[in-house]
Amino acid sequence: MSEIYLTARIDIPGSETLNKARELGAYATAQRIVKEMAPGEVVDIVKESGLRGRGGAGFPTGVKWSFMPADHEGPRYLAVNADEGEPGTCKDRILMERDPHLLLEGIAISCHAIKAKDAYIYIRGEYLKSFTILGQAISEAEQAGFLGNNIFGTGTTVRVHLHRGAGAYICGEETSLMESLEGRRGHPRPKPPFPAIEGLWGMPTAVNNVETISNVPAILEKGADWYKTIGTEKSPGNVLFGVSGHVNEPGVFELPLGTTARELIEKHCKGVRDNKKLKAFCPGGSSTGFLPPSFLDTPMDHDSLAAAGSMLGTGGVIVMDETVNMVEALEVLADFYHHETCGQCAGCREGCAWCHAIIKRILAGRGRVEDLDTMEEIFHMSGAGKTICVFPDALAPPVRTALEHFRGEFEALIVNGAEANTLT
Ligand code: SF4
Repeated sequence: MSEIYLTARIDIPGSETLNKARELGAYATAQRIVKEMAPGEVVDIVKESGLRGRGGAGFPTGVKWSFMPADHEGPRYLAVNADEGEPGTCKDRILMERDPHLLLEGIAISCHAIKAKDAYIYIRGEYLKSFTILGQAISEAEQAGFLGNNIFGTGTTVRVHLHRGAGAYICGEETSLMESLEGRRGHPRPKPPFPAIEGLWGMPTAVNNVETISNVPAILEKGADWYKTIGTEKSPGNVLFGVSGHVNEPGVFELPLGTTARELIEKHCKGVRDNKKLKAFCPGGSSTGFLPPSFLDTPMDHDSLAAAGSMLGTGGVIVMDETVNMVEALEVLADFYHHETCGQCAGCREGCAWCHAIIKRILAGRGRVEDLDTMEEIFHMSGAGKTICVFPDALAPPVRTALEHFRGEFEALIVNGAEANTLT
């Protein structure tokens, strides 16, 4: 059994309150680090730990922090991405609702590391409960002197501001999140400049996911060497797998990176529901595509899943049993991405719309033989580097993997019409 450090407190009654969290050790590490350790040392330890972002891209956190210019004298910011909108993802919500002081302690240490006096938590608009609990936790921590001015009596300032989004998936993209925080429409900005150089209000900004920041207290408490004993060499630490769909016991599971989907589904989720067969699973949210059962033994870490043609993404595992029609499953996702494109780039706006239209046409029994190649071509034309952000790369994997692993279902509908859809 691996060591649990992200969810260790979440099942203890009252864990969201400061009193209980302190009783269980919260803020002891932040107090020691802010008092005794120089910011650069904290960055070095996080860099050495190998912590990779848990929001989807998997970029090394300490490296990201080190991109912020050392000689910048004006304000610098931490933006915490709590806009958990990727379909199939629900792990940050558990942390915010059940142990908000873990995140806040991580913010205190991270702000000290990057010399930021202000942290903005951009929280998904639909997460009203998380918003309320976090707001209460911030005020308790301020009253105790753990956040605000002069934290732990050290003269260091860490103010935490909570901002609710308004339901747009694209605001989970870091530059769009910053536009929204600044009060404008959530449209992604071209990069460069990257946020570490020119982020919020033009100032150096680190944008990190909730789970990423929640790893920081344990790393600073126990050290980079301890952290590297968990997970794999290139993807150290635990990750929160949020499992939904056709399993007997869905939920959020803290497990070492590199755990296989077989262990997750068969052992921790007690198998596929109703003794049905597994048909496919998305390993890390909808944008990581569909994998068939032959990938069950692939270690779920950044590099192994990339080698398998997928991604770890957000760790939001969606399980589909044999009753699922993959054309319908793809239509659901295409509908979502069609709706959520911000529309700035023609390739993304039109590509998502056309892809969705083609899938609907196939489902209606009016598909054409050339439709499958057309869908692949759409994402070839609007893929990496051809648009402002990577949004088209979120719909491309579901399309590509559905066609690669389940092409027969598409072809049957095209050749035989809607009556071939025997699964629904
Ligand atoms: Fe908007 Fe899509 Fe362009 Fe991203 S790629 S900026 S979501 S239109």
